[in-house]
Amino acid sequence: MLYYAHQYITKEDIEAVSAVLSSDWLTQGPAIARFEQHMADYCGAKYAVAVTSATAALHIACRVAGLSGNGLLWTVPNTFVASANCGRYCGAAVDFVDIDDGTYNMSIHALKQKLEASSAKPDVVVPVHFAGQSCEMEKIYELSGKHGFVVLEDASHAVGASYHGRKVGACQFSDMAVFSFHPVKIITSGEGGMVLTNREDLYRKLVLLRNHGITRDADQLSRDGGPWYYEQQELGFNYRMTDIQAALGDSQLNKVDEFVHRRHQLAEQYRSLLADLPLRLPEQHPDADSSWHLYVVRLRLQEIRKSKKKIFEEMKQKGVALNVHYIPVHLQPYYQKLGFQAGDFPVSEQYYKEAFTLPLYYGMSDAQQQYVSDCLHEILA
Ligand SMILES: *Cc1c(COP(=O)(O)O)cnc(C)c1O
Repeated sequence: MLYYAHQYITKEDIEAVSAVLSSDWLTQGPAIARFEQHMADYCGAKYAVAVTSATAALHIACRVAGLSGNGLLWTVPNTFVASANCGRYCGAAVDFVDIDDGTYNMSIHALKQKLEASSAKPDVVVPVHFAGQSCEMEKIYELSGKHGFVVLEDASHAVGASYHGRKVGACQFSDMAVFSFHPVKIITSGEGGMVLTNREDLYRKLVLLRNHGITRDADQLSRDGGPWYYEQQELGFNYRMTDIQAALGDSQLNKVDEFVHRRHQLAEQYRSLLADLPLRLPEQHPDADSSWHLYVVRLRLQEIRKSKKKIFEEMKQKGVALNVHYIPVHLQPYYQKLGFQAGDFPVSEQYYKEAFTLPLYYGMSDAQQQYVSDCLHEILA
C-alpha cells in the first residue's frame, strides 16, 4: 500500500540514536541543545526550544504569548485540530479565518475584514503554512502591528521551506514559529516539536514551561537557597524531548535540503503527469518556496461522474491510500458544540468537498509515482 507520507531513516540516523543509548544521558543531556542550536542556525532564528510534540509547542507558545481564560485565538479551519486546540488548552476562545481559494492558506482579505468587523480582537493569530507553503507573513505581521496580536506560525508542514528568500522559522514576520517532527512530516524525531523565536523574553518563559515551571538558573532564582535549590515559578509541564529523539531529529536535519529537493522534483513531476486530468493542481505564491509536505489536488466535480468516496475506494483497491487534509476544524463535533456551524467558512468547506492528498515523500520512486498517476487516469477516465 502506498501512503501519503513515510519517514526516511538512514544508517547515520540509527547510529546517532545508538550513540545516545550507550551514553549517560537519555534525557536532559547534550543532544537537545545540539538539535536546538542546529535548528536555530538552519532557520536563522536566535532561539529554539525542543519539546515533545508540535502540539505541546503550540500550547506553551500560546501560554508565553499571554493567552488566558479571557483571551481569543484565531486560526484557519483548514488545519489539524492542534492549531486551534492550543487556544482551548489556555481556556481561551477560538475563532477562525477562512482560507484563500488559491493557496489554501489564511486569506489576508478575510483576516483584514474580520479584524475590522469584529469587536473582539484576537490576542494570538496562528497562520498555518499549509502543505509547506508559507502564508503571506509580511502582510499578517503588518496587521499584527496595527491590531496588536501575537503572530504564532504553525510551521508543522514547513521545515525546509522559505519565504522571501529566508527559511521559515527565521521569525522575520512573527513572534514564534512551531515545527513538528512527527514521522509524516519533513524530518522526524519519532515524536517531537520545536518553538523558534528571536525574542529572549519569550525564550526564557518557554524553557521554564517545558520543565514544570522549574528553574535552577542562579540569576533567575528569587533567593539563594543553597546548591541543591530549585524553584517552581509557574505552573509548567513535562514537555521535555528525550535525547534519543533529539539525536534522531538532529541527524535528520543534515538531510533536510536533500529531502525537500526530492519533494520539489516529485511535485514538478505530478504537475506534468496529472495535467490532463479533471483536477485542480496546487498553486504557488511567488513569495513562497514550499517544502511540499503535501501534494493536494482538487476534483473538478462538474467534470467527474464519480463521488470522492468512490474514487477513494477504487484507489485503495489498487493499493493507493489517499488522504484528506483537512476536515474543517470548525465542523468537528467538539467545535460545533462551541457554536460553529456548516456554512461559517465556505471556502474551507468547498475545498474540503473537492480535495485529497496524493502520496509524496522522500523515498517515493518515480515508478511508484507513475503508478499513482496511472491509477488516477484509469479511475477518472
Ligand atoms: C502535525 C501537525 C500538528 C501537530 O504535530 P504533533 O507534532 O503531532 O503534535 C499541528 N499542526 C499541524 C498543521 C500539523 O500538521
